[in-house]
Amino acid sequence: MGEKMAAAVALSSGVSFDAACDVLVIGAGAAGLIAALRAAEAGADVLVLERDAVPRGSTALSAGLVPAAQTRFQREAGIADSKADFAADIMAKSHGEADRATVDRVVDVAGTALEWLADNHGLGFSVIDNFTYPGHSARRMHGLPSRSGAELMDRLRVAVETAGIVIVNHATATTLYKDDSGRIAGVGVLRPDGGSDRIGCKALVLACNGYGGNRALVAAEIPEMAGALYFGHPGNQGDAVLWGRALGAASRHLSGHQGHGSVAHPHGILITWATITEGGFQVNLDGNRFANEALGYSESAATVIAQREALAWTVFDARIAAIARQFEDFRQAEAAGAVLVADSLGELSARMRLPAGALEETAAGVAQFKRDGATDAFGRNWAGSAPLAAPFAAVKVTGALFHTQGGLVVDGAARVLSDDGAPLPNLLAAGGAACGVSGAQASGYLSGNGLLTAVALGFIAGATSAEVALRPGA
Ligand SMILES: Cc1cc2nc3c(=O)[nH]c(=O)nc-3n(C[C@H](O)[C@H](O)[C@H](O)COP(=O)(O)OP(=O)(O)OC[C@H]3O[C@@H](n4cnc5c(N)ncnc54)[C@H](O)[C@@H]3O)c2cc1C
Repeated sequence: MGEKMAAAVALSSGVSFDAACDVLVIGAGAAGLIAALRAAEAGADVLVLERDAVPRGSTALSAGLVPAAQTRFQREAGIADSKADFAADIMAKSHGEADRATVDRVVDVAGTALEWLADNHGLGFSVIDNFTYPGHSARRMHGLPSRSGAELMDRLRVAVETAGIVIVNHATATTLYKDDSGRIAGVGVLRPDGGSDRIGCKALVLACNGYGGNRALVAAEIPEMAGALYFGHPGNQGDAVLWGRALGAASRHLSGHQGHGSVAHPHGILITWATITEGGFQVNLDGNRFANEALGYSESAATVIAQREALAWTVFDARIAAIARQFEDFRQAEAAGAVLVADSLGELSARMRLPAGALEETAAGVAQFKRDGATDAFGRNWAGSAPLAAPFAAVKVTGALFHTQGGLVVDGAARVLSDDGAPLPNLLAAGGAACGVSGAQASGYLSGNGLLTAVALGFIAGATSAEVALRPGA
């Protein structure tokens, strides 16, 4: 009997498996690979299933920046921070909606996980120390030298291969087989040529991210983003949530998501929000500002999409461009011609094809707020923000859905909980497959919440899955 395409759950009685392992991981993004490394280190025989030909996931599309507090990387950079402040920042941004116990747990282990990746697997993290991300009370974003998720994925994949863990590519997990007690006995896998395999396991880690690539789920759960550009990995089809529903698992905050209001159009390249936090602003096609950009990039997606043609311009200057240039994405945007540069606002405005005088007037207003250290009508406070100076720069942008933040409810050991709150026997979830710490709204997303739960819950799920699988009698 072959495997069907759609995510399903079936009984394992009478089913034979072609191969078996202790810990099976579905999804080879940051969460899955970190879980695999940790489980293998604990002595488990681990196998990773990945639907793509080469593991990339949303992780490779990201800037690869992971927030963590009280790390040695911060100490080396002379940055004072505390886990309590980090947890408070997450709670504040999520309007108090995030689950406090989960927040404390992921904040507690994030730094340990990064230092472990550095020490045991050679990932050379450092802290971004030249600007503060909105909503963070300290400089705590950690990244690899190129500040790119592609480098993070490359380094994780090499670490996994070095550890002797097998990643089975071109393997889409479709059916979870469970026994009468609710224990997952194995997984059915579909190959691109229609062939199928069944792999038995003692513990299963769902690390297949969220449902941003599933149009129907997005329309049902996040209607305001139903027509938006999806900028995440297309393989994130919501399989974890669909399996969870069939297993009686609890899910939460399915309307929560990360948007981004600064994706270069039509190039489709992320323009770092440092362009805003360092003193830039956004105007619509009429040359007028339309929101408090400083609230954050996530909620700005919907406000940009609400503008004419769902477009806006991010306006900044050469000083800010120099800061943004540390990001590979920004350098690519410049190489692709997405960044317009001009010696005067008038010249820039003409190249942007804005109504004559509109940009100059808007920029003059912003300059005045900066001089006065005042708060504008949208509620943005400009105190301490350096004035823009020639040469000026602008990028035409649109808003996009990056990834979903709702998902399966897990406990502090990354065990998936059933609707009645009890943990399922041997099912774990990490990263975008699990409910994150952003609450139910786009505005609840604090920069880095995505990779925070991928890294921290991946680290935890790896340890728990090995413990469950290696328990006598498992
Ligand atoms: C453009 C962009 C920029 C971002 N920047 C940041 C940032 O700087 N900091 C931050 O914290 N977060 C950022 N994020 C969010 C971050 O990328 C995600 O939260 C994180 O990568 C999720 O990791 P993951 O391992 O859960 O999922 P992924 O990396 O998406 O990995 C999931 C994997 O599962 C595979 N898969 C799915 N279903 C199946 C199946 N049925 N069978 C087999 N395999 C399957 C997929 O192919 C994929 O490879 C960004 C996201 C985007 C899109």
